[in-house]
Amino acid sequence: MFLPQEIVRKKRDGGVLSAEEIQFFVRGIPDGSVTEGQIAAFAMAVYFNDMTMDERVAFTLAMRDSGQVMEWKSLDLPGPVVDKHSTGGVGDVVSLMLGPMIAACGGFVPMISGRGLGHTGGTLDKFDSIPGYSTVPEPEKFRQVVRDVGVAIIGQTAQLAPADKRFYSIRDTTATVESVAMITGSILSKKLSAGLDALVMDVKVGSGAFMPTPAKSLELAESIVSVGNGAGTRTSAILTGMNESLCHAAGNAVEVRVAIDYLSGKSRPARLHEVTMALCAEMLVISGLASSEQEARARLQAALDSGGAAERFARMVTALGGPADLMDKPDAYLETAPVIVPAPALQAGYASAVDTRELGLAVVALGGGRVRPQDAIDFAVGLTGLVELGDAIVVGQPLAMVHARTREAAEQAIRQVQAAYRIALDKPAVEPMIHRTVRP
Ligand code: URA
Repeated sequence: MFLPQEIVRKKRDGGVLSAEEIQFFVRGIPDGSVTEGQIAAFAMAVYFNDMTMDERVAFTLAMRDSGQVMEWKSLDLPGPVVDKHSTGGVGDVVSLMLGPMIAACGGFVPMISGRGLGHTGGTLDKFDSIPGYSTVPEPEKFRQVVRDVGVAIIGQTAQLAPADKRFYSIRDTTATVESVAMITGSILSKKLSAGLDALVMDVKVGSGAFMPTPAKSLELAESIVSVGNGAGTRTSAILTGMNESLCHAAGNAVEVRVAIDYLSGKSRPARLHEVTMALCAEMLVISGLASSEQEARARLQAALDSGGAAERFARMVTALGGPADLMDKPDAYLETAPVIVPAPALQAGYASAVDTRELGLAVVALGGGRVRPQDAIDFAVGLTGLVELGDAIVVGQPLAMVHARTREAAEQAIRQVQAAYRIALDKPAVEPMIHRTVRP
């Protein structure tokens, strides 16, 4: 029998907690036997004194086991269960293409995705912009779509890792979010509750990244790889660039259009393609679906060229209640904003840097993200035609097109976009999109 305050005291004094102590404490989070004050004190103790890798594994598993853990064995699927998670960014529409691409290559992707957080967009909000698509299907329906189509992208349910929900909201209000140990446990407990064989983590680096510095991004990637494998799921991570929006659009319906154009082959923007292919190839390799990166890339390209990936996307949308002809007639279903105006450049030169976080916040201010969790989202608004770093800019040319509900909202977004870009006389050096891969 343990006492919560003794566990907090031990961590406060720099001790190493046993798996049993961690399990006891975490069990008390959702059932209320550990008080809010004790959870806050525990979080602050971990913030200052950290956790060893063994403690992180025990913490992650205890949080995962605070709720339902999905099992796929009984379905006897003819391929591995595999997923990807990203630390979040702007214009990061990868999941919409990646899930169907992996399904077309023989994997099964039960993707539990999140809503936008702060300046970052959320995959779930993007799917909510498709009329009829249900991001909260019954668990049996979710299993059936994963089995039949190979991919289903839905939202978090209250049954998955409930300890994290309470723990995160207390961390959020006590200045204790920024701890690699606790971020690792929070992300992995939710992901691993989907019962995965393999996971690839996309850790963003740059001005729109969740982690504040490249060193911290690497620290998180190494922690997640170590803890994910320690918890029994083959896990690797890729550090990818988030020094500008990943594609030329940021918002919800506008990003769904990018995904449809990508899958249909109408347009595959280079940076988006590079990151999507790198993550998909890593997924195929670590889940055993391909024996080399080269083979993985060839199969993924074939899945795109044959229309196989596009077909999986269309089937998933239909199976979850969306329109059967979304791919053919996106304009009939995806909302467009009443005001679409350019954000003109005020200076000439080269786009040399952009405050990507500020671009994300411009989308939030337009109504495309939330200020408070209960806020409704305006799916139609956002930015398109974002210029890329290195582009030559003339005065007056659009840095982006602003899609807004009102003129006033558009005016504010124009100012934010103009302030976010730095235009310089020298062409900036091109930064790589794939910084590094971390494997166990
Ligand atoms: N995202 C999460 O899910 N948890 C964290 O702690 C931070 C980011």
